[in-house]
Amino acid sequence: MSLRLEDPVTAVPGVGAALARRLHENFGLRTVRDLVEHYPRRYDDAGDLTDLAGAGARAAGPATLVGEILAWDSRRVEPRGKRRRFLHLSIAEVRDRSGAQFTITFFNQRWRPQRLPPGTIVRCSGTLEQRAGRWRMSAPDIDELGHRAHGDELAAVVDRLAHRRLVPLYPATDELPSSRLAALIAAALDQLAPVEDWLPAAWLREHGLWSLDAALRGIHRPESLPEAEEARCRLAFDELLTIQLGLHWRRAHLEADTVGLDNRPLSVGWARRFLVALPFAPTAAQHRALAGIGEDLAAPVPMHRLLQGDVGSGKTLVAVWTLLCAVDHGRQAALMAPTEVLAEQHHRTLSDLLAPLGVNLPDGLRLELLTSSTTLRERRRILAELLSGQVDLIVGTHALLEEGVRFADLGVVVIDEQHRFGVSQRVRLREKATEGPLAEAALAVGSARPSLPDVLVMTATPIPRSLALTLYGDLDVTVLDELPPGRQPIRTQLIQPAEAHRRERLEAFVRREVAEGRRVYVVCPLIENSDAVPATSVLAEHRRLSTEVFPDLEVELLHGRMRPADKERAMARFRSGQAPVLVSTTVIEVGVDVPEASLMIIEDAERFGISQLHQLRGRVGRGPHASYCVLFAGFTTWPLEKRTLERLEAVAASSDGFDLAERDLAIRGTGQLFGTAQSGLPDLKLARIAQDLQLVAMTRKIARHTIAADPRLEDPAHASLRAELLRRYEGGLDAFAALQTG
Ligand code: ADP
Ligand code: MG
Repeated sequence: MSLRLEDPVTAVPGVGAALARRLHENFGLRTVRDLVEHYPRRYDDAGDLTDLAGAGARAAGPATLVGEILAWDSRRVEPRGKRRRFLHLSIAEVRDRSGAQFTITFFNQRWRPQRLPPGTIVRCSGTLEQRAGRWRMSAPDIDELGHRAHGDELAAVVDRLAHRRLVPLYPATDELPSSRLAALIAAALDQLAPVEDWLPAAWLREHGLWSLDAALRGIHRPESLPEAEEARCRLAFDELLTIQLGLHWRRAHLEADTVGLDNRPLSVGWARRFLVALPFAPTAAQHRALAGIGEDLAAPVPMHRLLQGDVGSGKTLVAVWTLLCAVDHGRQAALMAPTEVLAEQHHRTLSDLLAPLGVNLPDGLRLELLTSSTTLRERRRILAELLSGQVDLIVGTHALLEEGVRFADLGVVVIDEQHRFGVSQRVRLREKATEGPLAEAALAVGSARPSLPDVLVMTATPIPRSLALTLYGDLDVTVLDELPPGRQPIRTQLIQPAEAHRRERLEAFVRREVAEGRRVYVVCPLIENSDAVPATSVLAEHRRLSTEVFPDLEVELLHGRMRPADKERAMARFRSGQAPVLVSTTVIEVGVDVPEASLMIIEDAERFGISQLHQLRGRVGRGPHASYCVLFAGFTTWPLEKRTLERLEAVAASSDGFDLAERDLAIRGTGQLFGTAQSGLPDLKLARIAQDLQLVAMTRKIARHTIAADPRLEDPAHASLRAELLRRYEGGLDAFAALQTG
């Protein structure tokens, strides 16, 4: 009982240098902690074990036997009957703990003897029968439980199994099968000294959680499935709490010694006039959002709010109003978008929305756009005017984060996230505010604490609540749960190869729509044809449509490898109707807003995820016209997997983005949906965001309270929390590194 989590795997009995290397190469495991955090994927219920010696004839029938393979016999037999195919038989002699022997037989599986050499301890499940006084099992299910050469004893293995029916199944490789890992992990746990808990005992009591020690052991050797779940819960709690504490801790760190700005909504000013000049009335949901944000803007601490809403719910209006509140207080505001197309789109939307108020007129609002394709001269001018405070509003991409971009007085930041900005980028833009001349002057005289801008984050696609609370755990959440009135529902159809003839009807429909003044998007997965991926490309489809199908129509194309000026021109021609058909990659996925667009055709729809399809579909139905989405699927992938088809049918059947996002999360799991690495957050091995909403909410609350009471975790009672956070983040979050040294 002397092993510690920090020890290298070689400290585990039986692990030498060669095995240690394989553990590392196969799974990246280096320490005892890595090993015991190699959690089972699932558990297999071994069922009741049969004891041959005691069983007698009653043992015939379905049974599970455990024994050691003694020897193999392989032979070729000619089956009786007409079919003259030879059969290859592999027969193993197996001895169970009582010493009784039985045989197991496999047909045409020549690899079996090599895979299960003599000395292998196996569990065989199948039908037990007696022939000529001998027990045998034909083609049983086999689980490897160990090998004599690895020091496993049959009796010990049977003992373990006898009172523990659940066998953990580990992520494994050919080189290191699950049984081998199980044995290693068991050996490690046997020697492991009691693990100290990093959570205060009071928390465990209050929330009914297992101790860390019990959970680490229990997850590998549960007595029952409910026990396994208890253990998982505790360990998942740790994963989620780490994330929540990390987010809140970092926020507290960033805000330490700073103050918020008073950007409260004024009864006269740009923001007010903007609302009054709108051609429509805000929805009730938009009103609620404005009220909530207004309170944040007025509060003495910086706003951190996440604005969520389905595609088309009108987030832009809320964003623009928020930006204007800063301008009303004589400050600047920035809107950051994930792509250039989207930044340009936002810039144009803002120009249009603000036109009635007077924008870029001698005495009006000053609005600028800064992206990586802004010319050097323009850029120099814009930067100078940002610094001098002449620019009120700036829209941009990552270019806003570059060095040299400095604000005179940044009051509000709105970030439109497409799951693309990591946490650290969010931080960087906030920090811009403390680099401005005002902040520096304040610091220089040591009189004032620098102030941080109010931040509003928007997500382009809806995120399930549990995921939002995890990834944006440090933000308050507002949801726009209502679409503006008069929206036409988008009718979505799925077309598979069996109905390929519908393509022609669709082409006629395209002509009718265009004749009515509408626009049509055609989205393809690839830019150009590829040998590796047999999917439709923008270039090929554009050629086909413009020369063969619609030679009489202007067909534009758009993809990410075009020069910015060309992209801009293509979008302009489409928007104006000069080119009513646009063939594009998913660059149009986010935010692009052309109210005349009424038809979205997606080629090879199986290559897109649920949320992505929903987002793409949201590009139509933005005006008063009846709108349609057509998903072509299965034309380049055949056959379609059942799950893929279900996914596409779900998109066709539901127009609720939140509903679809939940399904997406359930189908794809957290890891894929959000590279947690990209977000800068530690891995989730056991937490299942989709199902663990309760744990998410609980850990978020605990983290909030803890950090509010002890922002730097300096209370001696929180020393173990602090140590655990530093360990888990490995300095990965900049702020943590700073805390460690400072
Ligand atoms: P999203 O939430 O997808 O960003 P937008 O802000 O782009 O949605 O709004 C979608 C469309 O709905 C825009 O054309 C916008 O002008 C319009 N819109 C927004 N709010 C309202 C409203 N309250 N009433 C009518 N139309 C609205
Ligand atoms: Mg939008």
